This record gives sequence, structure tokens and C-alpha cells, in this order.
Amino acid sequence: MDHSLFFLIALSTGFLTLLGCLLAGFIVLTEKKVLNYGQCTIDINNGDRKLTVAGGSSLLSSLAEQNVFIPSACGGRGTCSFCKLKVENGGGFIGPVEESSLTSVEQKNNIRLSCQVKIRSDIRIHVPPELFSVKKFAGILERKRFLTKDMVELRIRLTAPETITFKAGQYLQLQSEPYKGRESVTRAYSIASPPHDSGYVELIIRQVPEGICSNWAFSVVKEGQKVSFSGPYGDFFLSENTSPLLFMAWGSGMAPIWSMVRTLQKNGDTRKCLFFFGARTQSDLFFIDEFRLIEKAIPSFSFIPVLSREAVDSGWAGERGYTTTTFKKYISDISAFEAYLCGGPAMIDSTVEEFVKSGLQKEKIFFDKFS
Ligand SMILES: Cc1cc2nc3c(=O)[nH]c(=O)nc-3n(C[C@H](O)[C@H](O)[C@H](O)COP(=O)(O)OP(=O)(O)OC[C@H]3O[C@@H](n4cnc5c(N)ncnc54)[C@H](O)[C@@H]3O)c2cc1C
Repeated sequence: MDHSLFFLIALSTGFLTLLGCLLAGFIVLTEKKVLNYGQCTIDINNGDRKLTVAGGSSLLSSLAEQNVFIPSACGGRGTCSFCKLKVENGGGFIGPVEESSLTSVEQKNNIRLSCQVKIRSDIRIHVPPELFSVKKFAGILERKRFLTKDMVELRIRLTAPETITFKAGQYLQLQSEPYKGRESVTRAYSIASPPHDSGYVELIIRQVPEGICSNWAFSVVKEGQKVSFSGPYGDFFLSENTSPLLFMAWGSGMAPIWSMVRTLQKNGDTRKCLFFFGARTQSDLFFIDEFRLIEKAIPSFSFIPVLSREAVDSGWAGERGYTTTTFKKYISDISAFEAYLCGGPAMIDSTVEEFVKSGLQKEKIFFDKFS
């Protein structure tokens, strides 16, 4: 290509990018400084609660400032769809981010992503009452231990309040501190400790390449440091039924199941319980000794690690392959079980499909996707 043409294209691209940035900055500044929305009222559940907030921020963050915590696994980026709420009046137009996350039925029923709704006037919303029990917690990181090359466990002692009430399987939203030019974010993490250890929460966090919160947990936060989170959230917990249990987890999906297993042990629950844990190699396994001790204490409980990429000559005598096929060696009739799955969306989707094909009703399959 001619050098002067190349120079011209590069110059125009640079100019347009600069113009775009200036325009975006101008819009944000105008929204914040020039357009003054004044004080606005958030009416919750037909007048049950009325909050007065400064206009201009998102509904999600305005509610959090007033200690009403709505689940949001992506920290307000509009990607997780966890922060859906019914906005009865005053929510403004649906933008492109919401358009792609809400079904047409949801849009008709005034369901909105609270992270995308800006408060510009008085607004009327509906909040599920169980969310009023979500609290903000402060604690001290008492123990940090590396479980594998990309998995860390944090044990946090609660200081304010000093105890937490939750159901095994629920999650919290951890707030990271700013570091190396990266902003403070909140991300969802399942509580790995059992509810009876109520003065603490334990988390199992996988290091995600370039991930803000997981790298903060992995490399930045230190023992003795203050940490904060809100919770508990979520409806992934054991049902009241007494059916035999089939647990399946992959990677950090261990967290809620580890809480459930320790809760069953504490309750002296002796029903049949099989836990299949999928990993690549032996170096990705953790808590093996702990699970072998539980197996000794409760003979009806079995922990079955399944390795998909273990070297043929490693001497590994356990299961090889994939959890989705291995379970069939242990369970001839799956229909009596209740299944609890945790891990990435792809593993969960294929496992649910496999379980249904094998004869387990969909209503008896519960899962938490770490999307
Ligand atoms: C209910 C629930 C429970 C969970 N429990 C656990 C748990 O117990 N343990 C656990 O380890 N995880 C858990 N997760 C996942 C967790 O919430 C985080 O998603 C995960 O830790 C990644 O967060 P992060 O801040 O490190 O990464 P992020 O900063 O969110 O980044 C994630 C990825 O996206 C990329 N990315 C970020 N921003 C952009 C952008 N603007 N454009 C393109 N790419 C981008 C990053 O490079 C990275 O690869 C859970 C999730 C849910 C929904």
C-alpha cells in the first residue's frame, strides 16, 4: 500500500477514535454534572418502603447504597441478567443491552435489568421480599491457602455483623479493592463453608486469566486484610426431600457442594449420596483426604473423582474419562435420585441432558451455573 494512503487511514482512524472517546466522556460528564435529576423516590412493593436517592445513578447501585442488595454476578455490566426486577413505573426506555437480555414476555411485564435502569425521576418497583434479608458484611481474611495451581481458598472471619445465616449452596457477592489500575468490582462466589460455621465464610476461587476479582483474590489480598461482601443470595440449596443424592461438580463448582456435604455430615444424614468431581489431572484435585475421612464416617457417602486428561502411565487408579458417562457405572436407576450440579454452563447443560435421557425428571435436577 502507498505510504501516504496508509498514513491518511491511520490518522483518520485515530481522529475518529479520539472523537468517540471525547463524545462518550462529554455524555457521561453532562449526565453527572449538568443534568441534575435532584432527589428521586424509589417506591418498593406498593409503598412498603420508600427510599429517597440522588438521581443519575443506576437503580442497582442506588438500591445498594440504601442497603437493598439485588443479585448481580457481573457487577453491573449487563451481562449476567441476575439483577432483573419488575419496574412498574418510571424506568424509562429499554436500551440495547437490556433488549438482548430480556424476552419479549419479560419486556411486556415490565421486567428490567436494574443495572441498566437510570434513576431520572420517581420510580415504582417490586423487590422479592427475601432480598430484604441480604446484608452487607465486613470481615478479616484469616487464612489464604492455594489448593491447586489455579485455585485458592479464602477463609474470612466475620466482624460486622459477626455471624451469617444462610443455606448450604447459596452465594455471596465479594467486593475486590482497586489494584494495578483495575477498579473495585463485585463478583458472585458460592459459600464453601457450612452454615453451622456461622462466624466464618470460606470461598474457593479459580484464577481466571485477566479476571479482575479472581486475580485480586489470587495475588493481591493478604491474610489480615479487611474484606467486604453482601449476601446471602440464590436458590441453589438442598430440598426438604429425603431422596438419595447425586452431586456433580467441576473445578471451583466444588464450593457449594463442599458446604452441602459438610452440612449433611453435621446433621447425621445417612442417605445414599454420590459425589462425582470432574477434573483434568491429579494436580487439579483437592480435599481428597477430607473426603476420604467423610467416607469413613458415613459409609453411605462416596466421593468419586473423574480425570479426563491424566497421563496413561501416571499410576492413577481412580476413574478416567468424563463424569457424564462415569456415573452410569455406579447408578443403574437414576430416577430415584435428586441431582445437584455446579460448574460452567457447558458442563451443566450437557449433564442435565444426559440425566434426563437416563430417566431423571428435570424437576429433580438443581444447578448453579458459574457464568
Ligand atoms: C452464582 C455464581 C456463583 C459463582 N461462584 C463461584 C465460585 O465459587 N468460585 C469461582 O471461582 N467462581 C465463581 N463464580 C464466577 C465468578 O463470579 C466470576 O465470574 C469469576 O471469578 C470471574 O471474575 P473476574 O472478576 O475474575 O473476571 P472478570 O473481570 O469478570 O473477567 C472474566 C473474563 O472476561 C474477560 N473480560 C472482562 N471484561 C471484558 C470485556 N469488557 N470484554 C471482553 N472480555 C472481558 C476477562 O478477560 C476474563 O477472561 C460464580 C458465578 C456465579 C454466577
